[in-house]
Amino acid sequence: MKLKDVKLTNPYLTLPKLCYDRVDPEPLKKPFLIHANSELAKSLNLDISDKEALTSFVNGELALEGTDNFAMCYAGHQFGHFVPRLGDGRAINIGTVTNEYHEQYHLQLKGAGQTLYSRSGDGRAVLRSSIREYLMSEAMHGLGIETTRALAIIGSEHSVYRQTWEKGSIVLRTSPSWVRFGTFEYFAHSKNVKELEALADYAINECYPHLNDEANKYFHFFAEVMGKTARLMAQWQAVGFNHGVMNTDNMSIAGVTIDYGPYAFLDDYDVNFICNHTDQHGRYSFGNQPRIGEWNLRALMLALEPLVAQERLEKVMEHYGQMYTKYFLYLMGKKLGLDEVNNDDFDFMSQMFGMLQSLQVDYTLFFRTLSRYEGKREALLKLGLLHTSMNEWLDEYEKRLEANQSTLAERHEAMLKVNPKYVLKNYMLQEAIEKAEQGEFALVDALFNIAQNPYDEHEAFERWAGVTPSEFKNQKLSCSS
Ligand code: AMP
Ligand code: MG
Repeated sequence: MKLKDVKLTNPYLTLPKLCYDRVDPEPLKKPFLIHANSELAKSLNLDISDKEALTSFVNGELALEGTDNFAMCYAGHQFGHFVPRLGDGRAINIGTVTNEYHEQYHLQLKGAGQTLYSRSGDGRAVLRSSIREYLMSEAMHGLGIETTRALAIIGSEHSVYRQTWEKGSIVLRTSPSWVRFGTFEYFAHSKNVKELEALADYAINECYPHLNDEANKYFHFFAEVMGKTARLMAQWQAVGFNHGVMNTDNMSIAGVTIDYGPYAFLDDYDVNFICNHTDQHGRYSFGNQPRIGEWNLRALMLALEPLVAQERLEKVMEHYGQMYTKYFLYLMGKKLGLDEVNNDDFDFMSQMFGMLQSLQVDYTLFFRTLSRYEGKREALLKLGLLHTSMNEWLDEYEKRLEANQSTLAERHEAMLKVNPKYVLKNYMLQEAIEKAEQGEFALVDALFNIAQNPYDEHEAFERWAGVTPSEFKNQKLSCSS
């Protein structure tokens, strides 16, 4: 369907008034289209070939039938401290589209101006942060990790101040739900139980409709969110992704990765890596993520107190660790090319992580190289500082492989499909951003293609498949965006 003919719906606006505030986007000056996600457009059943219409849509100028723009209200624990009112400070919801499979995509403009919840912020997003969100959300999708996805990104001549003057940009992003853990916390804290219940019913219908008629639906709802979160944490850990700002307002009720800020993929494996410059104590370090997922679920559990007895939810939480471990072992087993894994493999994997940490081995390159391992150790030994512990681990690995039923060729093929050749490391994004700031977007296009096809060879970009240049390794980024 042509973009101009699309009819938007606004299911969120059926909720009580406290949940949102109506606000229209403020367009950027001289907008231009940087990139559009044709694959996503296809799954939304959208014809976006009219680039002028698309640009004006992303810039909040083209209102479609059913347009009724609003910002959502939420609270959140930021670095462990409760902030009673946050809300969409620079995201404006512009409606929902439903495709032929009845899947709903809620559209949101990030960087389209101030809302009731902007506090001291300007409601804008700068080009570099928009490019980061645009590319990384697609990269996560390409890696099979649940995430919001962006449909298009525009640049502009609009000046935005962030320590220096930069250019404003807007990302049109989509999600199966924009409800956050912090959305529940807002109504629990303000003791608006009627709204809390309406929100829970809404979230169930949006994300877990099979629970609509369940007798204990709020209990089951929490169990579903717990399971999804445990799985998401396992996926982040297995691929080496550090989110960086796991505040409860950045945790999705649908269990998808949301709000891309100072994230990073690991360079050399480091369980203590902290990608967020402002995270002085490492609350959101790479290795802490599963535990923080649990902490955040407990915050959600408390917020549901008026709806479900805490003891019952406590029982659900007892399974979090087990569920996380099960998912994580499963994913690591696949990365290692093992036909079967069980809890006994934990020691073997711990030995591997210890070895990767002490030898300072590039996480992505290690698994990609291991994906072609046939007994010759040279390529792997070259990745680490010392050979002894790598050799010891490979001895164990070979013993472990003996239990496999699959052939060597089958193992290699399977491993090359789960161990990406490329992840979008920050130095690669930085290179694309610097060019983009000069008006050249070829590297954004290239990284987008790599993001969608991370297991392919992309010979022209071989330089991005190796070890991160030492001056760019394990750098921290600031939240300022
Ligand atoms: P974040 O850490 O990016 O998830 O943002 C935390 C809160 O600050 C959210 O409520 C955001 O909407 C808000 N926020 C971040 N940047 C801005 C901005 N430039 N203008 C207004 N609100 C912002
Ligand atoms: Mg956020």
